[in-house]
Amino acid sequence: MSISDNLCHIRGRITAAALAAGRDPSEIRLVAVSKTQAAAAVSEAARAGQGLFGENYVQEFTAKAAHVTEPVEWHFIGSLQSNKVRQLVGLVTLIHSVDRLSLAQEISRQWGKAGKSCDILLEVNIAGETSKGGTTAEALLSLTREVATLPHLRIRGLMTMPPFYDDPDAARPYFRRLRELAGVIGTSKIPGVAMTELSMGMSGDFEAAIEEGATLVRVGTALFGRREHPPIS
Ligand SMILES: *Cc1c(COP(=O)(O)O)cnc(C)c1O
Repeated sequence: MSISDNLCHIRGRITAAALAAGRDPSEIRLVAVSKTQAAAAVSEAARAGQGLFGENYVQEFTAKAAHVTEPVEWHFIGSLQSNKVRQLVGLVTLIHSVDRLSLAQEISRQWGKAGKSCDILLEVNIAGETSKGGTTAEALLSLTREVATLPHLRIRGLMTMPPFYDDPDAARPYFRRLRELAGVIGTSKIPGVAMTELSMGMSGDFEAAIEEGATLVRVGTALFGRREHPPIS
């Protein structure tokens, strides 16, 4: 199957999952996760109509972006070190993986220097897995309040990566929990905070995520095929 065929198939599944859940399919955006894939694969997907891509590794991403000539939009979805934030300014329109105040401060500082504001999501580690990034559900509200005070950043919603991301049924309670957390924050009416985006669902479980309210699904393998190389960090 070509990238174009895969894209068509995934789009069909997104639409079907949205309709089955009584949702408007246009509420859901596909983030094509292109980590470890060549620039040529991104270009191929772009020519097939995919406009939004997600990347995980700053160095790999910036090198690749320089080789993609199609007008695509990039999101950063991977764990992010503060000393690399500077390289993302002007390249990404949304950072999904903000999980601590110090990182948010650096994003605000760097975007501010460029005279811009950055849209971000707060990443929540709902299961509390030590191997993964994300703030805990318990700390989320206070982190949201702190991050909301930063001048050059806008909180647009939440992101999560559940522990069982290849098993839709096992992942579903985590998706539901993320939506509930967004609801709690939304009703807290924190100035400057909008809970309009829920980034959840990957190749193995994006339909369940859509049924639970996802607005951004992050799909890599189902679109590009298996990743040949282990992630470079
Ligand atoms: C790699 C990755 C994905 C995509 O995973 P697939 O199972 O290949 O669809 C989604 N989100 C994040 C944060 C990732 O690192």
